Amino acid sequence: MLNSIPEGAVGGQGTANFRLEPPHGEDWLAVGDAAGAYDPLTSQGIYKALAGGLQAADAITDRLSGEARDFTAYGESLARSWEEYLKLRAHLYTRETRWPGEPFWQARQAQAAPAPGAWWACCRGESGVS
Ligand SMILES: Cc1cc2nc3c(=O)[nH]c(=O)nc-3n(C[C@H](O)[C@H](O)[C@H](O)COP(=O)(O)OP(=O)(O)OC[C@H]3O[C@@H](n4cnc5c(N)ncnc54)[C@H](O)[C@@H]3O)c2cc1C
Repeated sequence: MLNSIPEGAVGGQGTANFRLEPPHGEDWLAVGDAAGAYDPLTSQGIYKALAGGLQAADAITDRLSGEARDFTAYGESLARSWEEYLKLRAHLYTRETRWPGEPFWQARQAQAAPAPGAWWACCRGESGVS
């Protein structure tokens, strides 16, 4: 392996950011990757899948017990979670300053273009930056 030489062209595959909207119907809920996919740089996939699973379980319990008439609250919760993700993603993209001339980072930093103060709302407490 140490002396092996790759054969053929090396390719890449972009990663998807998507959110299913709405992430529920009358009698179903989407959870984890079925509800949304996240940039791997943010490491949110497993966390969001686990957190979404817990929220879905609560939503189903509320529905079965008659506390909720539908899954609207679940959808709203996932929408808030997505907004938090976008802020975190923008924060992480703009923190990277080592390769300002690289198209990879230029594209992400242009995409991030956070609204003024957005990352403060997201990350001020977590990062300890004041
Ligand atoms: C290469 C790679 C690296 C990743 N690295 C990270 C990371 O470092 N950190 C991070 O947070 N996230 C990472 N992710 C993302 C993370 O793995 C997913 O976001 C997360 O696993 C989603 O959980 P899930 O339960 O929705 O789906 P999954 O974990 O994919 O679980 C779905 C399960 O359903 C099963 N299944 C599918 N169809 C059927 C069927 N018809 N019947 C029965 N079972 C079925 C599948 O076999 C699978 O076990 C990575 C993803 C990939 C592909």
